[in-house]
Amino acid sequence: MSADSVVMKFGGTSVADADAMTRVVNIVRRQWESQPKGSKPPVVVVSALSRVTDGLIRAADLARAGDAEKSAALIVELLERHLVIARNLTTSQRAEQLAKALTSQFAELGGRVVAMAAAKQVTAANHDLIVATGELASSRIVAAAFQERNLPAVWVDSRQVLVTDNEHTLAAPDMDATCGRAREVLAPIVARGEIPILGGFIAATNAGLTTTLGRGGSDYSAAIFGACLDVGEIQIWTDVDGMLTADPRVVPSPQVVPHLSFEEASELAYFGAKVLHPATIVPAVSKNIPVRILNSRQPSNPGTLITSEARKNGHLAALACKRDVTVVDITSTRMFGAHGFLRRLFEVFERFKTAVDVVTTSEVSVSVTVDDARRLEDIVRELSAFSEVSTEGQMAIVSVVGDRLHDDPGVFARAIVAIEGIPLRLVSQASSRRTFTFVLHDAHVTDAMTRLHTAFFEAPVR
Ligand code: ADP
Ligand code: ASP
Ligand code: MG
Repeated sequence: MSADSVVMKFGGTSVADADAMTRVVNIVRRQWESQPKGSKPPVVVVSALSRVTDGLIRAADLARAGDAEKSAALIVELLERHLVIARNLTTSQRAEQLAKALTSQFAELGGRVVAMAAAKQVTAANHDLIVATGELASSRIVAAAFQERNLPAVWVDSRQVLVTDNEHTLAAPDMDATCGRAREVLAPIVARGEIPILGGFIAATNAGLTTTLGRGGSDYSAAIFGACLDVGEIQIWTDVDGMLTADPRVVPSPQVVPHLSFEEASELAYFGAKVLHPATIVPAVSKNIPVRILNSRQPSNPGTLITSEARKNGHLAALACKRDVTVVDITSTRMFGAHGFLRRLFEVFERFKTAVDVVTTSEVSVSVTVDDARRLEDIVRELSAFSEVSTEGQMAIVSVVGDRLHDDPGVFARAIVAIEGIPLRLVSQASSRRTFTFVLHDAHVTDAMTRLHTAFFEAPVR
């Protein structure tokens, strides 16, 4: 596409209710109007309404526990919420059609959860089918709201476009296949001057089985579509003013970071800045497409621009924290002078498809952190066959991120002084030298983040 085309992704809170969806229509209209005459229309990607994915996951859990009644009741409740919004946004025939589509979609889901509850089983494939309902429903409503307001929008089932492997609940895109479909399905819509509206997060295998990209994956969907269509900008519209200097749920008044490099944004997202799904930057980098984070409640605020260029001001970009991680300590007397131990160790994590975030080593021991502790028991059992293993939950990773951290050796010293007295479990700096990472008890996260934030972002010189 052209340099002035954009993909615009709206997260759950940005489509939470009828007012929020109306704001979305206005933002997209304004974006299109601001583009040069004859520009291609934006491509719009939406998340499920806020908290709907959580609700659908709960329905799946209830089905797994065999509670058909509660699971089905929850589906009815979710349908009601969608219908109220749909009625608020559309009139006459369009309203009827939309209500019918939503009702049949949720009724089908209701039937499914009852059957799954009878079997007390929800496979990963069925889990994906259940949660995909959220994005399918929200995107349908948004498309109808656009049409109602005379914007030429076309609803597209993302499962016709985004092709993934069959790793249900955490599927990886097949970029070649997806870009082929994007050219077949999306490009003609855009070429006609119409706005494609798609649900994020959801996809399908080549064989047509529904998959999902992992929690928060709508950002990733938007970046994938953006890269395939080679757009000029990927916009992530959310409920904060951009990437902030720290998680606003942890630090009282973080500031907006106006500009970040791709690498910094990636690192912050990976280490817990939830405003961006960690994989979002990968497709953007592949085509060198700027990513902008914007607030759908304050659309004229400048937000954060993420590009391939290095940031101009300050050594630090921002802080991030990832909570509720587990530290696994693995000790082997045989590690001394031996090779092959690390391979053996990491193979266990690989076998159980568990990602490791931070790694530190000493002469005879290795400590790692894992975020997803679902397979921890199996992992510990297998590691115990050749080493001594202990685990500690309720830990947190605190990261200090900036491309130019290494320009000033004093930054590390200041960080350590700022968190003096807080027991540190692991400390690491990877070879990119873009991030210092401290692993500490979750109970100390607020204190550590606040003190670091004061030292680096509230003090007069940084
Ligand atoms: P959306 O539903 O729009 O995808 P998310 O809830 O996934 O929104 O992400 C936005 C939230 O990310 C913010 O409300 C904020 O609480 C959280 N967050 C964590 N760290 C940061 C950060 N460094 N900058 C901005 N937001 C952050
Ligand atoms: N709705 C999905 C979730 O809550 C995807 C997203 O919002 O990005 O995880
Ligand atoms: Mg998100």
